[in-house]
Amino acid sequence: MEIIVHKKGGRFTTRLKGRRSWKTFLLVKLYFAYFSGMKPLLSEPEAASYSLYVPPIPGPAHARQLETFINRWVYGLRRPMAVTIAVTDRCQLDCFHCSAVGRNKRGAEMSGKDIKKIVGESLKLGVSCVTFTGGEPLLRPDLEEFVSLVPREQAVALVFTNALALDEQRAASLKEAGAYGVHISLDSPDPAEHDRLRGRRGTFQAVRQGVRNALQAGLLVGLSTYATNDSVDGRDLSRLAALAHDWGVHEVSVFDVISTGRLRNDTSHSLSPRHRLLLMRETRRLHRALSFRPRILTQTWTNSRRGFARRLGCLAANYQFHITARGDFTPCDFTPLTFGNSLREPVAALWEKQLLHPAYREHCFTCRMQSADFRRKYIEPLPPDARLPYPIGEVPGCGGPE
Ligand code: SF4
Repeated sequence: MEIIVHKKGGRFTTRLKGRRSWKTFLLVKLYFAYFSGMKPLLSEPEAASYSLYVPPIPGPAHARQLETFINRWVYGLRRPMAVTIAVTDRCQLDCFHCSAVGRNKRGAEMSGKDIKKIVGESLKLGVSCVTFTGGEPLLRPDLEEFVSLVPREQAVALVFTNALALDEQRAASLKEAGAYGVHISLDSPDPAEHDRLRGRRGTFQAVRQGVRNALQAGLLVGLSTYATNDSVDGRDLSRLAALAHDWGVHEVSVFDVISTGRLRNDTSHSLSPRHRLLLMRETRRLHRALSFRPRILTQTWTNSRRGFARRLGCLAANYQFHITARGDFTPCDFTPLTFGNSLREPVAALWEKQLLHPAYREHCFTCRMQSADFRRKYIEPLPPDARLPYPIGEVPGCGGPE
């Protein structure tokens, strides 16, 4: 089946060629009606960008993403759309919620050749979004080489950064290497609080300057933050979104605080059901008040049982996977469990292994890392001094020693 997409003014027209079911037809129409009604983050004559996570529409990378999406919705086929690759564990900061605490730091980090293998195999598996993370990925002087491994016709390349090293020259070189955008972490709209949570003075100012540099280089710019019950009560998102609006940021991603890394044994910050509802309500209000600039995406909505989100839910073993700086394949960057090492086994084999595992065989509506059952079975039994990620088959009580 081939889907031909044209953009006329602000609307999309589509034509489907070849074998198709009525379900595909309906889904494609609904999909493009959704985007037709939306203000793009960036508009160019031949294509428009609607999110950092979605390649420009129309375009070949987007066509790949759409194919995965259709295969998932219509035929129940689980193929990844996105991979996040940690290119280093090193970081200049010492964050309150650091998810890398406890990671195995033995041995060398992946070489350029290793990363080339992983990017190539991930693209073959169908991903249309390759995100380079860390640690702090800008600490690798060869980051631009990794970005340039991602062909625009197949996928978009993104970088998650704390912005400390995102100076004018680095932003320009990322753009030149072909990066689509950068996600910059901002934990609080209050400068002193952001600096406190990040463990270093001046980090808020670095974010402000990093946003400027990235926009000037022509990159899409997202802010990445996380929600706790306290931040929802304090309406932090309203103030953060107002800043993002004033700074010209395109998108804000709001993750739930996940009990992992430094917070592995502390679930006290997790969002309550009431705070999730408040967060989604606040997001709707902000979209209206700020005319969708920035666009705000929340993990809470993705994991909710509403509308489109019914097929989203937990993205692990669904639409994405993660590779650590030493090549371990994990379901997502917050899950400290591994199915094997991608430098020793093909990425496709590890993806299949994950789909067959009892914990990942079924689609899960909610975040596994926030599920009491999942944590009781797979996270709580991990030895306190375990080197992470831990092989899932060796978790005590789940195939490993009792
Ligand atoms: S477990 Fe699933 S929902 Fe939770 S952070 Fe990982 S991918 Fe996201």
